[in-house]
Amino acid sequence: MVIDRVKPFQGISISSPKTPNIKRRYSVTQDIVAFRRCARQYGAFNVHKYAPAYQTQTYFGTILHQVLDRCHAHFNGKINPLTKGTLPDNGSILSNDEINDYFDELKQAEKAKEVLVPPSDIVKYFIQVENGLKSQGIQAITQDIRLKAVKLLQYFNALEGPELYKRVKDTEHGLQADRTTHILHGVVDLLVDTPNAIDNPAHCEMWDYKGSSFLNINRQDLENYEFQMRVYAKLYELKHGVLPRKAILYFLNELDGDTCPTQRPVNALLEVSIKQSEIDGAVNEFAKTVLEIEKARCNDQWNPAVLGKISEQDCAICDLRWDCPTPNVTLRYP
Ligand code: SF4
Repeated sequence: MVIDRVKPFQGISISSPKTPNIKRRYSVTQDIVAFRRCARQYGAFNVHKYAPAYQTQTYFGTILHQVLDRCHAHFNGKINPLTKGTLPDNGSILSNDEINDYFDELKQAEKAKEVLVPPSDIVKYFIQVENGLKSQGIQAITQDIRLKAVKLLQYFNALEGPELYKRVKDTEHGLQADRTTHILHGVVDLLVDTPNAIDNPAHCEMWDYKGSSFLNINRQDLENYEFQMRVYAKLYELKHGVLPRKAILYFLNELDGDTCPTQRPVNALLEVSIKQSEIDGAVNEFAKTVLEIEKARCNDQWNPAVLGKISEQDCAICDLRWDCPTPNVTLRYP
């Protein structure tokens, strides 16, 4: 018997699929600044997603940012409408002993599965953020780091809160731009209005918190911070049609000490110059760095930072330092 084979697709022509136009998103800090600091570290932890053994820097910077974000939400009544217009803890400060005692009691309470009421708003927000970080495997290595973070947060709240909080127009202000080959994005910590100004984006200042102290950063890190703020200024201009009034870096570690400073330390606040030529230079540099990252991805080749271009601190806590051609530290074997 002859079977008449049916060819259902005969005569149908299907064009070959187009290459999808998927654009990669590049974050100003997590991609561009991280790659510029050390491509080898960026390749290992951001591209290949190896988990670093310790995340001290991530812990410290993130906890400061997120607790301050809650302080702004507290002032705006977003957490509880009853706190609108008030500072967390009314700006009061717990002593080191009171904070340490609470940490010790909390440890015992957690073991006994009991709930312990935090002694202040700042400590309450701190523990909330810390629990969130713990669930991502990010923890403080020592109790001293936790104590220092709470102290800096209390000092900032007491010193800057009364004038700053009421001027804050937005927090975690997202910015992004489509740049043909990629999408560029960033998040500004604060948009701060000029006192008594009418609602106008040209009167806003962009503020970015840094967990470090100004005096401890090296030239390369400072250049990276300035670069970051200039790219943010461009993104701000694309979103709002005007440049921000100022770009400010706030170095929280400058507040460190036995007591809360009564006035802002001179090095705590740095205004970054945002002339048009400097912004254009930063945007060009951004595009160049994106090409370098794409090339490194293609070849899967991630070069270590050149000696002198990275701080000793960065190398000292880097898991890759043991076999790195540029270990910027004296290696001590355990
Ligand atoms: S030791 Fe320093 S140069 Fe080497 S990968 Fe780590 S951060 Fe980069």
